[in-house]
Amino acid sequence: MRINISQLEGKTGQSLRVTEDKILSPINGAGGEVSFKNPLHFAVEVTNVGDGYWVEGRVSGKCILKCARCLDEFMAPLHASFTQKYLTEAKGKEASDEEVLDGDELDLEDKFRESILLALPMKALCREDCPGICPRCGANLKEGDCKCPRNDIDPRWAVLGDLLRDQQKGVD
Ligand SMILES: [Zn+2]
Ligand SMILES: [Zn+2]
Repeated sequence: MRINISQLEGKTGQSLRVTEDKILSPINGAGGEVSFKNPLHFAVEVTNVGDGYWVEGRVSGKCILKCARCLDEFMAPLHASFTQKYLTEAKGKEASDEEVLDGDELDLEDKFRESILLALPMKALCREDCPGICPRCGANLKEGDCKCPRNDIDPRWAVLGDLLRDQQKGVD
């Protein structure tokens, strides 16, 4: 979202609040993809702090995640926020956490996308005890048991089985 801050120019201490409801395009992160079916609610407060602008952004709504075990998509609540200072002029290279304002418009879309990714769980699960997929036939065990035998593994091999499973987990 873009916010025009020209009305705050030269008015130290003054703030501006903007809200917007909007559907975001999908975001790809390390933990998978997050997508949106409904509009998210964005709220931004911008304050003129003299040498620049202090921005607080909040977003809430629902997102669609993919379960790490059964790969089903499911709806999850989303709450994310960020703060960022934008300087009116570049003050030298040291000010690395602060961004420099370009013109009189703030483009906050990337900031919001970043904050959403940070707010997502490392491992999304459709439910805490999701049984996942049968390693033999690929059936979604949430929808019921498959016909595959469960307890036919020689206990001496069970340790190896656990090891393999852990390795597979590490891959995805
Ligand atoms: Zn699941
Ligand atoms: Zn099976």
